Amino acid sequence: MPAIASKKSYRVGRSKTGLGLFATLPIKKGTRIIRYFGPILDSRIPEQDDIENKYLFELNGRWTIDGSVRKNVARYINHSCRPNAESDVRPRERKVFIRAIRNIEPGDEINYDYGTDYFKAYLKPIGCKCASCEAKRKKLRAEARAERARVKARAERKADKAGAKGAAKKKKLNGKHFNGKLVSAVR
Ligand SMILES: [Zn+2]
Repeated sequence: MPAIASKKSYRVGRSKTGLGLFATLPIKKGTRIIRYFGPILDSRIPEQDDIENKYLFELNGRWTIDGSVRKNVARYINHSCRPNAESDVRPRERKVFIRAIRNIEPGDEINYDYGTDYFKAYLKPIGCKCASCEAKRKKLRAEARAERARVKARAERKADKAGAKGAAKKKKLNGKHFNGKLVSAVR
């Protein structure tokens, strides 16, 4: 039996991308945090199959939970590519629970991986804003910056060398006869 949080261990709060769900108590790995719920849609009924929103949670080929209802606080949980929770899908019971897959500290944002279909449809086009992807982007930006600095330094060293050579040449020529004529100094 999975552990079930006895007290409410979360609150809705501001996250970087809008609202999110945050732990208010320590949540142990494996604990059920919250249920993701809403009306059950039957894909065999055309008007139910036509419903389209960002909070649909597919249980299997036939049944889908419409989690867009206000009471479904779990809908505030944001996606992460490196999450601290997961969805525990029970198609037979037509239930979904969000369960901790790591120990979560008070103040931590609770995340789970929304899955490939959602990612492709909604996150990839705008760029995933999860902490893991932001960190990756930050690292890439820093590497690009370092590379630009390296290229610039290299170019400056080259220019300095060329400048030094040029100056040396000029010095040699300055005030000396060249092909029998005095080559004028600095032009
Ligand atoms: Zn991500």
